[in-house]
Amino acid sequence: IGQKVLESLKEEISELEYKRYIKHLHYDEKKSTSDLAIFYAPNALVVNWIKNKYTEKISHLFEVKSDLKVKVQITLKNKIEKKSSKKSIEVKKGSTLLNPSHSFNNFMVGGSNQFAYAAVKSVSESAGKIYNPLFIYGGVGLGKTHLMQAAGNVFLQEGKIVIYTSVEQFLNDFTRSIRNNTMERFREKYRKCDVLLIDDIQFLSNKEGIQEEFFHTFEALKGDGKQIIFTADKHPKKIAGLEARLQSRFEWGLVADIQPPELETKIAIIEKKCEINKVKLSKEIVNYIATVIESNVREIEGILSKLHAYSQLMNIDIDLEFTKNVLKDQLHEKRTNLSMDTITELVAKDLNIKPSEIRSKGRSKNIVYARRVSIYICRELTQNTMPQLAKYFGMKDHTAISHTIKKINDLIQDDEDFKVKIEELSNKITSLS
Ligand code: ADP
Ligand code: MG
Repeated sequence: IGQKVLESLKEEISELEYKRYIKHLHYDEKKSTSDLAIFYAPNALVVNWIKNKYTEKISHLFEVKSDLKVKVQITLKNKIEKKSSKKSIEVKKGSTLLNPSHSFNNFMVGGSNQFAYAAVKSVSESAGKIYNPLFIYGGVGLGKTHLMQAAGNVFLQEGKIVIYTSVEQFLNDFTRSIRNNTMERFREKYRKCDVLLIDDIQFLSNKEGIQEEFFHTFEALKGDGKQIIFTADKHPKKIAGLEARLQSRFEWGLVADIQPPELETKIAIIEKKCEINKVKLSKEIVNYIATVIESNVREIEGILSKLHAYSQLMNIDIDLEFTKNVLKDQLHEKRTNLSMDTITELVAKDLNIKPSEIRSKGRSKNIVYARRVSIYICRELTQNTMPQLAKYFGMKDHTAISHTIKKINDLIQDDEDFKVKIEELSNKITSLS
């Protein structure tokens, strides 16, 4: 049963974590009883880590699988290993939480992330000396965690004690320490490190108690010249519910933003991910995927593994048709929820005019162009009828609409660049909404 529990745990955690920790656990069938489950781990590192992170889950799984309410005990296989010094455990503990493939080498640089990249890179070359703290902010999936961990990995290799943590983890640690009366150990842990990396700091918002503790941790580290790096989804000024003194400290060093990647950067990232994951895609497919994905780079990995899995499963090569098919569901779902408002808004944004202008009677060249493009895309991507389109865009009647659509179709036939432009825009719209 213990082995089964471990196997079901496999489905709930990342493969990396499973391989690193859970795989090395051994269930002791003989010594375990109906209320005690004993597992052996090969070293103190794994013991600590699993104790902190997984005992609750394991005992929960026991209950689910066997109806037994057990206490989970994780023990060292060889007690001698326990002697390893506290410091070395801490170093390793830090390292285990950093993803080793989040390196500077694997990070593709373009205009959108150049500034953040340069900032993190120089911090990684001179910890605590230049930008302290360094504050990286930007939208979801733009590479903040990747960059932060890339610096962390460099520090680790230099033998520094690195703590990478989330606000949630910090908070859990803190409340546990209060409960168990081990605040001193908590403070020692966070103040003894050389580098503190805290991800998604926006979650500090409106949590007063932890902000106070956090403030003191910050002051202590900064005072000692220890490097601190933060990430957040917004600029520190824009994070509501944050003490003023914290807000101001976040801006003490350097605040760097990451913007959504431009097409070339997306292409470079996809190519890199293909290389890492050993997936072969033609240039055409890479370009297609790059236009489908708007900004969240995280989607790329999902798409690549989906493509790879499907092609293996069906034993066919990945070509453009196949790619489109695999991604269709994803796009189609979005397609049905698209409104004409969204489309005009996005077209307007893309062409740098106001959405209201598209629906106005304006006759200037770029407005007419934007209107035609919007009508065409609405026709393609929504269920609206021609009369509905006419009404929405303030055209005389449905013949005006069909006239417009014919014009665009002709253009698409004649002009390859225009065709690509429209496809790109449609892909963008479907992936954005
Ligand atoms: P965030 O923390 O900003 O939400 P992540 O750092 O988790 O984003 O990035 C999401 C995924 O995208 C990760 O797999 C990361 O490796 C990848 N990624 C993001 N930007 C880049 C880039 N410029 N080059 C290579 N991979 C990237
Ligand atoms: Mg992140």
